[in-house]
Amino acid sequence: MSFNSLGLSAEILRAVSEKGYSEPTPIQLQAIPPILEGRDLLGGAQTGTGKTAGFTLPLLQRLQLAPKTHGRPIIRVLILVPTRELAAQVAESVATYGKYLPFQSAVIFGGVGINPQIDKLRRGVDIVIATPGRLLDHVGQKTIDLSRVEFLVLDEADRMLDMGFIRDIRKILALLPKKRQNLLFSATFSDEIKTLANGFLHSPQTVQVARRNTTAEGISQVIHRVDSKRKRELLSFLIRGEKWQQVLVFTRTKHGANRLSEQLNKDGIVSAAIHGNKSQGARTRALADFKRGAVRVLVATDIAARGLDIDQLPHVVNFELPNVPEDYVHRIGRTGRAGSSGVAVSLVCVEENKLLRDIENLLKTEISKKVIPGFEPKSR
Ligand code: AMP
Repeated sequence: MSFNSLGLSAEILRAVSEKGYSEPTPIQLQAIPPILEGRDLLGGAQTGTGKTAGFTLPLLQRLQLAPKTHGRPIIRVLILVPTRELAAQVAESVATYGKYLPFQSAVIFGGVGINPQIDKLRRGVDIVIATPGRLLDHVGQKTIDLSRVEFLVLDEADRMLDMGFIRDIRKILALLPKKRQNLLFSATFSDEIKTLANGFLHSPQTVQVARRNTTAEGISQVIHRVDSKRKRELLSFLIRGEKWQQVLVFTRTKHGANRLSEQLNKDGIVSAAIHGNKSQGARTRALADFKRGAVRVLVATDIAARGLDIDQLPHVVNFELPNVPEDYVHRIGRTGRAGSSGVAVSLVCVEENKLLRDIENLLKTEISKKVIPGFEPKSR
């Protein structure tokens, strides 16, 4: 199945082929036709499936087919995302896929100056990619007009709810015209997501792609039993001893991420922490340094890691198990993508036994356990 058969315009196909995609991913195959038809969509897909192009390509085409030719552009597409990183990435995709189209877009998120965003909006844009909080700041300052939005996307809706954005979302929905096309993407479907979806989607087409890596193909998973106070030492030992070069480490809290990163640096392992309390500049820098190999270990919280465009990492480490078993799947999905093999290592102490059982129940498999000599736990 090729992109050519999906009914996309020559300008869009050209951008897609320059990006090097030879065929659509499953979510793209399923989502593009109904979106082109103008239907609402409920998409079950997580990062890494190609969902961004799955909604961006057909929306660009919808704009292209019904152009507004008079005067300054007006905001016709609103894409809401949970994090600044995801906003930046979606904006980049919009720019890439829309390279041969005349549309203007603005990306709106907090933690950076509001004035450049106001300038950009004032000049007129067709597409806005935003996190809810800052978008509402613009609404409050009357620097944005959402009254002509025709297309709304809620991306990673589950994450938005987890982050407490539900009230902001409802406020934003109330500002939009009633008649519009709505797309909602979520990796999971809790009752809360279903309620939200029922509230604003109109007879949506449901598309779902299998959660990647539920079976963890291509990923070898291992658990090292260790006492909690020796985890940091064990991590340094593994990184050094096994010569891991690019390691993404997950901690449960921001504070934990900072502390671990500092300790690794003291151990002589170059590390950076990335989480919601860091400035946008610091996060972008840490990610760039990690990608080019100047930082060997990136320590992240689940929320900060969501939407980060890093995958196919050789090593992902769970310094602490996540509270939500699904997050384990998200985390280890960062390794071993696209056929390359990866290793997901979890350092598990006795206090985490219940979390481990929940994860194994979700995966319907038992993860192999190993004790590293010298790090035998006192209890397990
Ligand atoms: P997403 O799930 O939207 O975050 O996309 C995950 C990654 O897949 C991104 O790096 C995209 O550039 C890439 N991608 C999206 N669509 C395709 C495709 N059809 N073929 C190959 N790679 C793709």
